[in-house]
Amino acid sequence: MARMAAFRFTARDDPVLEAHVRRHIGARRFAYNRCLEAVKDTLDERRARPDVEVPWSGYSLINWWNGWKRSEDAGCLFAVDPSGRAELVDAGLAWRTEVSAQVFEEAAVDLGRALAAFSASKKGARRGERVGFPHFQKKGQGPESFRLRNKVSRSGHHCIRVGERGPRSLTLPVIGPVALREDTRRLRRMLRPGPDGLPRARICSATVSLRRGRIVVTVTCELADVHPGMRHRSDNGARRSFVGVDRGLSHLVVVAGSDRSEWGRIEPPRHAVAARPALARASRSLSRKVPGSANSTKARARLGRLHGRVANRRNDFTHRISSTIAKTHGAICIEDLAVKNLVKNRHLARSIYDAAWGELASQLRYKAAWYGATLVVAPRFFASTKTCSSCGWLCQEMTLGERIFRCQNCGLTADRDINAAANLAAWGEAEQRSATQAPDPEARGRVTKACGGRSAGHHLGDGGTAPETPDPGKKQEPVAAPAA
Ligand SMILES: [Zn+2]
Repeated sequence: MARMAAFRFTARDDPVLEAHVRRHIGARRFAYNRCLEAVKDTLDERRARPDVEVPWSGYSLINWWNGWKRSEDAGCLFAVDPSGRAELVDAGLAWRTEVSAQVFEEAAVDLGRALAAFSASKKGARRGERVGFPHFQKKGQGPESFRLRNKVSRSGHHCIRVGERGPRSLTLPVIGPVALREDTRRLRRMLRPGPDGLPRARICSATVSLRRGRIVVTVTCELADVHPGMRHRSDNGARRSFVGVDRGLSHLVVVAGSDRSEWGRIEPPRHAVAARPALARASRSLSRKVPGSANSTKARARLGRLHGRVANRRNDFTHRISSTIAKTHGAICIEDLAVKNLVKNRHLARSIYDAAWGELASQLRYKAAWYGATLVVAPRFFASTKTCSSCGWLCQEMTLGERIFRCQNCGLTADRDINAAANLAAWGEAEQRSATQAPDPEARGRVTKACGGRSAGHHLGDGGTAPETPDPGKKQEPVAAPAA
């Protein structure tokens, strides 16, 4: 089991549940800020005494928190008898039993991660933008969510359970059963033991968040590998014919082979463009309300819901496309796009965000791995659009409006996107050729690319009892290596 996936459910509106969720979110924020305060205090202390140890990792922060929450620093409860004599009844955080203790632990883990990211960034051991020192979280800013780990007791009892109170329910520790809007069937089916007695999924954690007035529960799971019958066959070193995936604005995605054969063409859904009038109306309505008033809160919620709907539709669409491409093509080439630079063009930014190119690429990347497909990424400055896919002539000037590529060398006329996708496919094939032909100092003679995964170390034609290449349509269990 190695692949991670999330199942997202929306809870039914319930004031009691909302109170629980808000209490947990507040507790998480409190623990995070309290731990951060302790880190800052010990850092100050260390200036005077260098031997003071600063709790920096999640583990040490949990230990610090667990010590603190029971101490008199966290609060004291006194009982006063009629004579006026006070007696200490209980020390520690008075409300600590009202929320799940895991909320505190996960807050400490989050702070530990933030501190580690800060250290790594400072040392230059981390890619991307610089990460600053973590700061205190304020109500209404920062994550409105909390995370609970799925702890399993010695008797095998899971603290996060699905479908206990009917198909649309989920049980969380301390909070109890949560009524959901969606059916949990797909997740329940994967949690049931299969023919080998093992379930195909294991729940790792659940994140409960408040999103645009709704309570959303995201269940993170570790899933078993995709069924071998669903995976692309690993054809021992044989060359795969690639498809190029060209991402554009006039067509969201064009998939074509190196011979310019078109495999698919997807119109951009333009979710944000379609919702623009409604979004404009809602924003205008919000701008006319008195800031801080009840009406402004309502108007803000309405605008948030609209944005949420656009995001949900876009997300669903992107997942469908990436799944289809990863399932149907065994060798895919995409180009590396500098989305961050492209959105600087104000006229195109909305359409580019709407197309979710970056998200599509990252989904393709992990889904290709799930289904055993090869994915290669052409470099950022590969001129896929301006190159002739037939003779390689490079066009110097090509505007966004030109939809037809005309080669002035060999006379090829092709659809602009098909030409680009064909170039990408050819690039992928060339890349594969150079990878399989690279001289391997360990091996003599022709080098065959070893197929990875479960069938590694198992070669066809080695005189064993290996079956012929399995039929991808047939469901088949992985074959064990033949006994010597
Ligand atoms: Zn040409």
